Amino acid sequence: MQAHIVTTPGDGIGPEVVAQGVRILNRVAAKFGHQFTFTEALLGGCAIDALGTPLPAETLADCEKADAILLGAVGGPKWDDPTAPVRPEQGLLGLRKRFDLFANLRPVKIYDALRSQAPLRPELLQGVDILFVRELTGDVYFGARREQGSGTDAYDTMIYTVDEVRRAAVVAFEAARGRRKKLASVDKANVLASMRLWRRAVNEVAADFPDVQLEHVLVDACAMHLIRNPARFDVVLAGNMFGDILTDEASVLAGSLGMLPSASLNQSAFGLYEPIHGSAPDIAGQDKANPIATILSVAMLLRYSLKLEAEAQAIEAAVQAALDSGARTADIAESGAPALGTQAMTDRILHFLG
Ligand code: NAD
Repeated sequence: MQAHIVTTPGDGIGPEVVAQGVRILNRVAAKFGHQFTFTEALLGGCAIDALGTPLPAETLADCEKADAILLGAVGGPKWDDPTAPVRPEQGLLGLRKRFDLFANLRPVKIYDALRSQAPLRPELLQGVDILFVRELTGDVYFGARREQGSGTDAYDTMIYTVDEVRRAAVVAFEAARGRRKKLASVDKANVLASMRLWRRAVNEVAADFPDVQLEHVLVDACAMHLIRNPARFDVVLAGNMFGDILTDEASVLAGSLGMLPSASLNQSAFGLYEPIHGSAPDIAGQDKANPIATILSVAMLLRYSLKLEAEAQAIEAAVQAALDSGARTADIAESGAPALGTQAMTDRILHFLG
């Protein structure tokens, strides 16, 4: 197949890890007989420096012609002034808004080879393989609010429409159907009206997926289960704020941010793919960044936007094989053990990709 991918390497370690993602895509193209073309576009701090805006019109125009976007990370101390008129993350938010990227998918898989590096007891992490589906465009982050000003109160509004919940739920049910067929929908229906609507809408969608086993889990209980028994979850569906908090909690299970990919999708499966980590200015430019989060994001790009499941699985198997063979970057190496750099780690994954 032919596909066109826009890369927005961004800031800090972004360019280093996106370069590894492109190496993997080029190998997949050669191995499976596809033609992938790339355009590199400015986003975030580097775009502010070059053009005075975090999301230049040229970048938007490039993305509009693409089949998918591969993003590194944006931001860093240089642009951190909270009073600055433009900030790097506005570029990312602008892309989400422009393309209506309402479903944020974050897999959290614990590799056996790395269980001893994680903060939970290794036996609790056996078999952990969770896919979070977080609704990304609604909820309390976008509801009406009143700032405190000089007064004595302020408020934010948690608001969902049935349609917003339904479209996120459909993504989650479909994902569960392709996995272990279990879906946990997170809410706070015992207290919040918007969450009672959430539960009702999820139940309505469930009627179209009788093969998927649905449970409703209160957000506080979910936070606890993620630590006590994370292996009980397959797909977890959550609203914007609860998903924000729970995915950060779950990311700790993997032992390093450098392992975790993500996708943000719209109704037509156009997507923005990025590692969940930031620009890691402390290690930028030193060939130390773990490229696996980006490489697994590339696998998601192939799976969700290009519908190339076999190619996605080939990448995931190559990552697994590299880890099983003992390949480690510094963030996942035992303390004092030798570590590979960004490029050498990718070399090992390419070796197993064949
Ligand atoms: P960070 O994720 O950049 O780094 C946190 C820690 O994890 C650092 O010690 C870093 O070295 C390490 N780390 C991160 N990715 C790694 C990798 N691939 N390999 C090895 N180690 C890795 O978070 P931060 O330091 O809080 O943020 C730095 C900048 O990134 C800030 O400007 C922040 O706003 C931005 N940020 C951007 C995004 C994004 O672009 N989506 C996400 C989070 C943070």
